[in-house]
Amino acid sequence: MTDPIIIAGAGIGGLTAALALLRHGVPVQIFEQAKSIGDVGAGVSLGATASRGLYSLGLKAALQAASDTPLASEARHYQTGEVLGGAFADRPGKVSDRDLLNQIHRADLFALLLDAVRAHAPGALHLDHCFEHTAQDDTGVEVRFANGRSVKGAALVACDGIRSRTRDQLFGVQEPRFAGRMVYRFLVPIDAARPYLSNPGTISYVAPDRSLLRYAVRHGSVINCVAFVRSDQPSPESWTERVGTEELLAIFAGWHPDVLGLAAAAPVAGTAKWPLFDRDPLPVWTDRRITLLGDAAHPMLPFLGMGAAMAIEDGVVLGRAFAQSASVLEALALYERARVPRATDMLLASREQAEIFAEGPDSTRRLATTHADRMRYDPATVSL
Ligand SMILES: Cc1cc2nc3c(=O)[nH]c(=O)nc-3n(C[C@H](O)[C@H](O)[C@H](O)COP(=O)(O)OP(=O)(O)OC[C@H]3O[C@@H](n4cnc5c(N)ncnc54)[C@H](O)[C@@H]3O)c2cc1C
Repeated sequence: MTDPIIIAGAGIGGLTAALALLRHGVPVQIFEQAKSIGDVGAGVSLGATASRGLYSLGLKAALQAASDTPLASEARHYQTGEVLGGAFADRPGKVSDRDLLNQIHRADLFALLLDAVRAHAPGALHLDHCFEHTAQDDTGVEVRFANGRSVKGAALVACDGIRSRTRDQLFGVQEPRFAGRMVYRFLVPIDAARPYLSNPGTISYVAPDRSLLRYAVRHGSVINCVAFVRSDQPSPESWTERVGTEELLAIFAGWHPDVLGLAAAAPVAGTAKWPLFDRDPLPVWTDRRITLLGDAAHPMLPFLGMGAAMAIEDGVVLGRAFAQSASVLEALALYERARVPRATDMLLASREQAEIFAEGPDSTRRLATTHADRMRYDPATVSL
């Protein structure tokens, strides 16, 4: 195969897919709409399946060097701090794979993925290319961008996120649905956070209709905080809104002093707020030479923290599918067959987890689970 695989979108999914393909000797060209990448968001927690996938791409040392690994990961009562469920390093059989849990700043994850992609293919990434349209025939695809450029390739792997244009083009326009929750995200420097970390590790404080997840990134120097708050409708102006401390303190009124302390320490004007969206599972991701990957194929609610992990798993499996197949069509069909059931299961489990959390501490205590079976998946060795 000489024509490259075109990858639309250089998020976690697009970069992982690019790296996986390059490592199998498949040429890629990556097109990203943004003018720069890397300066993004806050923390991302990569569980065992994502870590196995990235380790298989040669990133173990770089990932572990840039990540934090908590001693415990647990759900706690929002007022009393009582443990409702979780996994602990010091209890046999609980956090079994500590060296497979990597909590990392997104910018650091992008940096190591980009370095690895560039080491294989220095000129493969093209910024400021907003994908607009694609056409395909028996020989390949032609992809057109908003800047007027068009390129040819052997296939298009669309990694263009929850509002994927490719998904609309292949399967019809269907707007994502507001998931009835707003997200608040803020980072607290460790010096300001330290008095409010009376319990170590990763903690989700759970209340009816709202929760706060907090964990350390950048070698404990920053505490990443993410809150989910039930809401009837998204505030229309809030796509990239920043909110002040009063709004956070009002959300957490009456909560555990650690939560109130973290909220009070949130940097002024540093709290991002946005609505959460959901889509139903898609049973088919591929039309001959065009396929979807990551959030473009299966955006999921973040209550299991597995969206990026699914994109990473997709990328690793896509690379293996190309290595094992005699043609592009065969590779994409193999990828789809291997990934649709897995991603659909995780999407539905994430929805279920959202409801468990929303019901509050009692249901969280009753149903707390580490999803151990789901976390045994290994994208680098699973049978295709
Ligand atoms: C609050 C929150 C917390 C989360 N925490 C976790 C976590 O801890 N662990 C975890 O595994 N997952 C987590 N997730 C999910 C995770 O962030 C996503 O699933 C993951 O980032 C999806 O990656 P992606 O590459 O598929 O899509 P995206 O990250 O959306 O990347 C898409 C890329 O495509 C580009 N693009 C879009 N349209 C075009 C176009 N037309 N042309 C060219 N480029 C385009 C975009 O600019 C972007 O760079 C969380 C999600 C949320 C909302």
